[in-house]
Amino acid sequence: AQGASASPFVMETQCPFCSVQCKMRLTEFAPNALLAAGGNAPVLDYDEPVQYAVEAKPNKASEGRLCVKGMNAYQHAVSDDRIVYPMARRGDTFERISWEEANAMMAERLQAIAAQHGRDAIGLYGGGSLTNESAYLLGKFARVALRTRYIDYNGRFCMSAAASAGNKTFGIDRGLTNPLSDIPLAKCIILTGTNIAECQPTLTPYFTKAKENGAYIIVIDPRETGTSKMADLHLRVKPGMDAALANGMLRALIEEGLVDEKFVRARTKGYDALRAHIEAQSVEAIAELAGVPAESIRKAAIAFGKAETGMVFTARGVEQQTDGFMAVRNFLNLTLLTGKIGKPGCGYGAVTGQGNGQGGREHGQKADQLPGYRLIENEAHRAYIAGVWNIDPSELPGKGVSAYEMMEKVHDREIRALIVMGSNPVVSNPNANLVEEAMERLEFLVVADMFMSETARSADLILPVTSYLENKGTLTNLEGRVLLREGSRPAPGEARHDWRILCDLAERLGRGQYFAYSDAEEIFEELRIASKGGVADYYGITYERLRREEGVYWPCPSLDHVGDGRLFESTFAHSDGLAELVPVENHFPDERTDEAYPIYLTTGRVLSHYLTGVQTRRSHTLASRDFESFVELHPNAAKRFGVADGQLVTLTSRRGEIVVRCRVTRSIREDTVFVPMHWGDVQNVNKVTNQALDPTCRMPGFKVCAVHVRPLVVE
Ligand code: SF4
Repeated sequence: AQGASASPFVMETQCPFCSVQCKMRLTEFAPNALLAAGGNAPVLDYDEPVQYAVEAKPNKASEGRLCVKGMNAYQHAVSDDRIVYPMARRGDTFERISWEEANAMMAERLQAIAAQHGRDAIGLYGGGSLTNESAYLLGKFARVALRTRYIDYNGRFCMSAAASAGNKTFGIDRGLTNPLSDIPLAKCIILTGTNIAECQPTLTPYFTKAKENGAYIIVIDPRETGTSKMADLHLRVKPGMDAALANGMLRALIEEGLVDEKFVRARTKGYDALRAHIEAQSVEAIAELAGVPAESIRKAAIAFGKAETGMVFTARGVEQQTDGFMAVRNFLNLTLLTGKIGKPGCGYGAVTGQGNGQGGREHGQKADQLPGYRLIENEAHRAYIAGVWNIDPSELPGKGVSAYEMMEKVHDREIRALIVMGSNPVVSNPNANLVEEAMERLEFLVVADMFMSETARSADLILPVTSYLENKGTLTNLEGRVLLREGSRPAPGEARHDWRILCDLAERLGRGQYFAYSDAEEIFEELRIASKGGVADYYGITYERLRREEGVYWPCPSLDHVGDGRLFESTFAHSDGLAELVPVENHFPDERTDEAYPIYLTTGRVLSHYLTGVQTRRSHTLASRDFESFVELHPNAAKRFGVADGQLVTLTSRRGEIVVRCRVTRSIREDTVFVPMHWGDVQNVNKVTNQALDPTCRMPGFKVCAVHVRPLVVE
């Protein structure tokens, strides 16, 4: 194209769609202004009236890569579907209102509900894609402006098992104990319940590089995936039996004399009890439980035990279980027993899913936490945060409940008003029929979103928020590296930043003096102080440093601290410096198959979509790659249920049913079916998933429930 009359708009930002936080440059061209842009081979979308070029930019995590989600992320942000002004319910429709009216309505309704039913009749539901600044402010808003105990967020479903396990075993929860650059140094890698090839695709080259360097890769997953294709050994574990499988590997390690006794005696506690527990079991018996050949369990244990260096990665496959906390702890036992931590090429990683899954859980969005990973029930922690917030500690509410339990409280009409920010609980919670019903029972539902999500449809008030192209703030990637995202595109219509919405509402509620911020950096400055001395210490991190150094790891307690990329080199974070080993039982899934529901269901993601698909389903390129949900069945299972490839089927559990298209494939175990999690309504897999919770971290057992499959009958 010739004649570049209009200057293209150029900005740098980070992909919003996973925890790697790949950096990109977006160039927005006026028509016929294509030649004005520089850069490396821009990808042009000729279908748009305004054209866009997306280029990967190197940052320390992504090394200059973008996956298909990142390349096409801009499409949702510039979509005509964006909600661009506040909208209030009028009967069955919504009507445009002003921000003035929206704020007045919120203040009036929330105050009335609090006056009639108490402050705890109001709940807040946040998200792991919010920036650190918005997540911090949402937590503060709940405790200082509304003074309710009920706040939690969708990260409960993302990270709570691994977070609790890391805290208990190591004394600290940071997604990766090592920088990503350590992965190619590992000689054996265990990837369990993680499908990085589809969920965090730009990480894959770290693993292929490790393989080129001679690494032996073990993948544990009931399905064949893009990730298992690079495995030297694929253990197709029965859904829900990950903890047992780890026990089998521990048993084989002990049998083969591969425990690093020197490390274990010097750096851990609890070994004797763990060893006695493991010695009472046999690899063969565990193999039977886990549905994996004993020989393969031994092979995996020997490969990991003998390797000079090694790393273990877990993700939702292990964590979204009713024993997710203990299952992760058992993989941490494995890491510690082999001494593979705190050294180059040795460590553990919980591969976070959401864009700010790590930061989202550090600054007070969780029911039990205050900023800096402080505990809401700890008097000293409460006093410190109350001091930062300039309130009396007695004003701080107590501990609330987890995300799904909040939905139950809504259903029981204990919570009567709910503010949802950066989340779509109707699709992301288990037992979604109950959640859908709960939303309808609310007296007042406010949803701040870019789109008319399945949850927003039930709202009394919808607030338009800014996207990753427009919203500046920090996010903490899966390594614990804090990154500054410079969103600079003008917001469409009247969309506002999440933090701005909270500040304005606080003002209306008469608490504006605690929320007098004029930009995200001012909030971050307060967050630094609030986190100071906490586990997740951001005190030494500033916007200026983030710009100059392109990211800084926490913990970073002072301005001259370089940030710790590799943790636990000489000590763990518990006060005695030791890591805690623990015996783990061979737990069974909460729900077992029977005659009525004869096959297991497990859930997961596909490459093109993110979370509940609210954003990626609005990207035409991503939506067209995967435009509907499906169920994967083994050919023998398809025969047993009388269903065929391509046919629509009904999948039923004790909680509900969905309709999805059948994909017959040998890539799934015969006793298991798989459905992805990115669609709502009749395709919403969470209408059938199990709401039973892990007793410690309150993670629902998304990854296994019992279902029936039948051909769809259209009457
Ligand atoms: Fe990078 Fe993840 Fe975005 Fe893909 S989805 S571009 S891996 S941040």
